[in-house]
Amino acid sequence: MNTEILKDIIDGYPVISQLNVDDLKSGKHTFWFRVSTNALGQWHHLPVIVFKGHKAGKRFVITAGVHGDEYNGMLASHQIANALSDLKISGSVVIVPTVNLSGTLNHNRDYISNDPDHSTANLNRFFPGDEQGNEAQRYVYHVWEHLLKPNADLAIDLHTQTTGTTYPLYAFADYRLPDCIKMARLIGPDVILNDPGDPGILETVWNRNGIPSTTLEIGMGRYSDYPLVERAVSGVLNVLTDYGVMESHGASINTNIYEGKDVVSIRALTGGFYQPQVSLLQSVKEGDLLSIGQDIFGAEVRRYYAPRDGVVLSLNVEPMRATGALIVRLIY
Ligand SMILES: [Zn+2]
Repeated sequence: MNTEILKDIIDGYPVISQLNVDDLKSGKHTFWFRVSTNALGQWHHLPVIVFKGHKAGKRFVITAGVHGDEYNGMLASHQIANALSDLKISGSVVIVPTVNLSGTLNHNRDYISNDPDHSTANLNRFFPGDEQGNEAQRYVYHVWEHLLKPNADLAIDLHTQTTGTTYPLYAFADYRLPDCIKMARLIGPDVILNDPGDPGILETVWNRNGIPSTTLEIGMGRYSDYPLVERAVSGVLNVLTDYGVMESHGASINTNIYEGKDVVSIRALTGGFYQPQVSLLQSVKEGDLLSIGQDIFGAEVRRYYAPRDGVVLSLNVEPMRATGALIVRLIY
């Protein structure tokens, strides 16, 4: 597959419908990637930033915004691009800052379609997409087949916890694949989960296509956390340095990492207002108080206790929680 440069230029950037980094000259390239059309027949154009090395080397793809409400990942991808802009690198780095355009535009986790049968869809359950599927599945298919898959030896997917909840700096890695755990540790997150993966998730699809990957969660949905973004950027640059893409990055990397095998999610038994009684990364023992739920009159309804020993991985930052919504997640 060759890079296909179309005749259109939008805002000064060329439009492509396929990308093969091998076709490009060394240096920085900025494109719009033409994905598919919305219900008005207008094209979705994804921003793509490519850094092509002066020497051969590993080819990285860094994605963000697969979930549209996860802005810290997008901010980190921008900062990674800025850090690479003045460097002579080896190999290549393709950065896609906002994979889910319709979700990003609407502060929404999901892809938003006009099709009443498939009005919203979690794109991170749809990889590698379906050329004959619904709007979101076709969108994912083109992104995967013509932009992501052909250009990666290794991949990093940047996320946050979803709106209303927060994570520390938290990486997922399939421990059966040495490069996955190596990349996750090089990032220096607070926590790594040994994650065998699930169908439809970009990280899993990368791994099952022989392209080792890690997913990095950067704090909370929707709202920015610049210190955590900075740590994520330093961590990703540390990965690029270790794999020989760039020469040095100079930032200190966290080595105090909690590595867990499983998580347990404590969910609201009734809708209401939930005040966490723990903080992120706090160690808890079985039976410790985690959260207090109140009803709409402000009366206490229920106390939630730790079902086992673990470390607090996530909690709600929006007080109002739906029945069944996450209030605390422990890793152990
Ligand atoms: Zn996400």
